[in-house]
Amino acid sequence: MRYLVPLVALFAASPVRAAEKPNLVFIFTDDHAYQALSAYGDPRKLLDTPNLDRIAKEGCRFDRALVPNSICGPSRATILTGKYSHRNGFYNNTNSRFDGTQVTFPKLLQKAGYQTAIIGKWHLISEPTGFDHWHILPGQGIYYNPPMIKDGQRVQHTGYTTDLIGDFSIEWIKKRDKTKPFLLMSQHKAPHREWSPPLRHLGHDKDRKYPEPETLFEDLSKRGPAVAEQDMTIEKTFSQLDAKLVAPPGINAEQLKEWNAYYEPRNKAFREAKLEGKELTRWRYNRYMHDYLGCVKAVDDAVGKLLKFLDDEGLAKNTLVVYCSDQGFYLGEHGWFDKRWVFEESVRTPMLARWPAMGKAGLSTSSLVSTVDIAQTFLDAAGVPADPEMQGKSLLPFLKGETPKDWRKSFYYEYFEYPAPHKVMPHYGVVTDRYKLVRFYVPKPDGTNSPDYWELYDRQADPNETKNVYADPKYAETVKELRAELDKLRNDLKVPAAHPKEAFGSLLMPPKKKNKE
Ligand code: CA
Repeated sequence: MRYLVPLVALFAASPVRAAEKPNLVFIFTDDHAYQALSAYGDPRKLLDTPNLDRIAKEGCRFDRALVPNSICGPSRATILTGKYSHRNGFYNNTNSRFDGTQVTFPKLLQKAGYQTAIIGKWHLISEPTGFDHWHILPGQGIYYNPPMIKDGQRVQHTGYTTDLIGDFSIEWIKKRDKTKPFLLMSQHKAPHREWSPPLRHLGHDKDRKYPEPETLFEDLSKRGPAVAEQDMTIEKTFSQLDAKLVAPPGINAEQLKEWNAYYEPRNKAFREAKLEGKELTRWRYNRYMHDYLGCVKAVDDAVGKLLKFLDDEGLAKNTLVVYCSDQGFYLGEHGWFDKRWVFEESVRTPMLARWPAMGKAGLSTSSLVSTVDIAQTFLDAAGVPADPEMQGKSLLPFLKGETPKDWRKSFYYEYFEYPAPHKVMPHYGVVTDRYKLVRFYVPKPDGTNSPDYWELYDRQADPNETKNVYADPKYAETVKELRAELDKLRNDLKVPAAHPKEAFGSLLMPPKKKNKE
């Protein structure tokens, strides 16, 4: 009896009437590259993700979903608050702690009568606020047999973390108060470093040799200082744990037996081969792809179970499901793993959304959307007014196949954390459909910056973003226009002329001792 209200009435005034409040499911991953989601059609055809693809097929695929600050904690703070780092105070994973007293979209939904829960990775140091139920990993969490914190109490689980988070998510929906709509944030640790796959997916690729990205062996010494000096290459930064030459933390004796049955013979052959140079990087790249994609397969399994559960419970039609990652990730492009940069593989996240009762199926858009839009999207769906300080826009029109006339044509990006880990220089800039203009700089204690320089990339001429054309006279007019656009964005988004010292991680301030929980 839930869908008797005529659609015309639903579209008038607020998006839905009280009796028709949609349920809201946010499925979130950590470091999931769009290159590893088959709905995006990566040329390397890295793997099939049929369950994630189903969200795209039955809803909308966002082909240019960008994050304001491409690392874990800051991205999470942006999603909850609908604000950039400089407005929500969570700049980096070194010194920031989430101020849980500020307005978040789950709090506004809770006040409006929604049941709210967050299950899985939280990673914002302070305790969650605005949730009726929370069951989170401490810190980064581990892949096997994770300790978790359930409504303030430490609990110990046995199993693979992605499976557990998926199952706990379904159990919470089962036990909900059926008289109220719900918001579930189901947040996976996977496929974050060190990419430990579940036992069932060991060997999933049958020792495939993966196609290499064109820039796997790019000579980065020829690039500007920021790119030349970073510390995130497969060649130099890859650890023993990354390479699975040691077993992951938390794994038990029984699991380890199966783990070793897969890795030990392969590791023995690797040690005997004594690989060097490009061959060593190639071996690591293939090991990385096996492990990373195995983790993504488990995420896809969990998404499949959750979607099937929504079907079986009769909830699918009036539930808005949004899938995204906290940022993108490098799968060997420029020789890298990790994220942080304004460059495409890290600034862009996979994003899919489905709401059968209100939206259309089979849509895609290349409009510049963002994780900063998630808060206002969920609030809009629930018919709850957004906080005026929020800095995004509702994505619901895209779910109906409409692009608002005043939709953003440029996007502001800013990254802070330096030098540890990975030594990616602070930078900010403007992203458009074609260009990226970016300023790299390192603040000094005396208030000056050194180095301090600009780069410009033309993605139409240079899709791999390897040629800085800032000084090319051909682009002088483009630089001028983009500099003006950048000033406008900084003004609109209330970016201060100078950021507090703690914004830059360990650069100007000692790292804070973190609450491990
Ligand atoms: Ca992340």
